Amino acid sequence: MPVTTAEGPGSRFALWVQGCTLGCPGCCNPHMLPPGPRPPTPLPEIIEGLDAAVIEHGIEGITVLGGEPLQQLPAVTMLCAAATARGLGVLVFTGYRLEEARARPGFDALWRHVDTLVDGRYDARRPEPSEPAGGRRFIGSSNQRLCHRSDRYRDPALWQGPARVEVSIGPHGELSAHGEPGTVAALLRSLRSA
Ligand code: SF4
Repeated sequence: MPVTTAEGPGSRFALWVQGCTLGCPGCCNPHMLPPGPRPPTPLPEIIEGLDAAVIEHGIEGITVLGGEPLQQLPAVTMLCAAATARGLGVLVFTGYRLEEARARPGFDALWRHVDTLVDGRYDARRPEPSEPAGGRRFIGSSNQRLCHRSDRYRDPALWQGPARVEVSIGPHGELSAHGEPGTVAALLRSLRSA
């Protein structure tokens, strides 16, 4: 997605990687679990899109989510390296805890290019509280942690504010939405029953 404000601080390029084997309770992106069926997008094509997003939208950074980005470490590392080379911030959502991530071969190379990792299995039984209750925006469940490698997104104010969700309608009228999982699910339920 060339630009979004629902997947981290500021305006961001977002990439959802397809495929995940973690099996979080109440996975918020079940359609992203299988590795297919779409053919992989070549990395140069993704980086071309990133460069266009810089020019057209003045994005502040990129967000990588999924699926599970750490199950595609080589390609995700190259994308994040390209982002940092362009002065962009890098935010990665992973279902692995940071301790687990560090044990994965190749993670160190990715970590050098990450500003903040949101870690841990999404747990639908423990939704992140909404803003009046002191919850963090952009975060799915309360067990997930913000692991800051740099100071870029360390300011807690960046993670405060009302929930953000973006909704789109496809060419055949199909509704889709992304942003905080609990809010997305509630919104889609109410739109579909309307
Ligand atoms: S890491 Fe994300 S895609 Fe994978 S099972 Fe958990 S919620 Fe679903």
